[in-house]
Amino acid sequence: MLILVANLGSTSFKYRLFRMDGQGGEVVAKGGYERVDDYAAVIDDALTVMQRDGIIASPDEIDAVGFKTVLGKDLSGCVMADQAVIDALDGFAAVAPAHNPPYAAGIRQFAKSLPKARLVALFETAFYQWVPAAADAYAVPTAWREIGIRRHGFHGASHKFIAERSAELCGRDDIAGIARRLYPDGPQPVAGRPFRVVSCHLGGSSSVTGIRNGVAIGTSMGFSPQSGLPQNNRVGELDSGALPYAMRTLGISLDEAERQLTKQSGLLGISGVSNDIREVKAAARAGNPDARLALDHLVHSIRHWIGAFMLELGGLDALVFTAGIGENGPDIRAAVCQGLEPFGLHLDPARNDACLAVEAELATADSPARILVIPANEELVLAREVFRKLS
Ligand code: ADP
Repeated sequence: MLILVANLGSTSFKYRLFRMDGQGGEVVAKGGYERVDDYAAVIDDALTVMQRDGIIASPDEIDAVGFKTVLGKDLSGCVMADQAVIDALDGFAAVAPAHNPPYAAGIRQFAKSLPKARLVALFETAFYQWVPAAADAYAVPTAWREIGIRRHGFHGASHKFIAERSAELCGRDDIAGIARRLYPDGPQPVAGRPFRVVSCHLGGSSSVTGIRNGVAIGTSMGFSPQSGLPQNNRVGELDSGALPYAMRTLGISLDEAERQLTKQSGLLGISGVSNDIREVKAAARAGNPDARLALDHLVHSIRHWIGAFMLELGGLDALVFTAGIGENGPDIRAAVCQGLEPFGLHLDPARNDACLAVEAELATADSPARILVIPANEELVLAREVFRKLS
């Protein structure tokens, strides 16, 4: 089965074409476009390129398109990407303005560009459907909870891949099997020791998730993608009292406050330099104290959540770093792991420094717990779930 996984940003379109066969799959083509203002044009271009390169004889050969949809109102899981999905994305468009509108537009466009392909959406929230209610509730009035105000979680496909791959790397094939079959089967009883992981997805958008036996027990991301860790240009955790105070004191409207929290905050907001951590690091090295604070706040926030989940899990078998900053940031990883030896996490500085964007073990040989870098592979999770849904 040929499955195109479409990754849609507000100004980008990336894709991978998988040939799937049971649980196995191979990437047969990939590509991407930046500064996109017309999805129809880039989708057609991608299809033309795949034909020109002899990957497909005709676009009709593509059996399905998978979408990593973010936040649906009253909808989650792996579902056919139909009008109900578009309505669910539209219903929360104001909550995830950088994420939902591109997916709604992309699904509409693919329905036109590939009318024979089946369209499937895997919501990023799906991985969190078994998080205990105590962990995803906010202490708000019932009416607020009834309109969906709770912790939803994001980066589900990425953390799910970490759940599987970390178990494989730690010789826990029993847990890897459960993690792989999680969506149709749900959590399964485990004989023997539990397998406890904290997964740190650190990228343009970041979250930390606690995972027991392949299943998420909680995550740093909350109701909207403006929560948890400081994001590239979006605010992380913020006391709800700060919003009315800032509006009144700075004399700004709700729309303006929302714009600043979703576009001018996070690493960009604190540093005043950039939303790209490479530029923030360069400024910090040059002595900019706000850039230093942005990096220190990121590390502090990551450690805060690792600590929370380590306690909830009763210890840790593996701490995992993934995504752009996690895979490429030995300095951030070292700062996160500083002083964690009493918790069984012994970082090997040489291994850490040598690891850039590859799968690697960073802990010393005698470390009781593993410290791993696992390159993100959300697309494979998507392709597998689409295959399973349609088989
Ligand atoms: P997204 O969430 O947009 O998919 P990524 O996972 O690509 O983001 O992560 C983007 C972040 O990773 C940026 O802050 C970027 O600076 C950082 N990053 C990417 N590549 C590198 C690198 N080679 N060295 C340091 N940081 C990097």
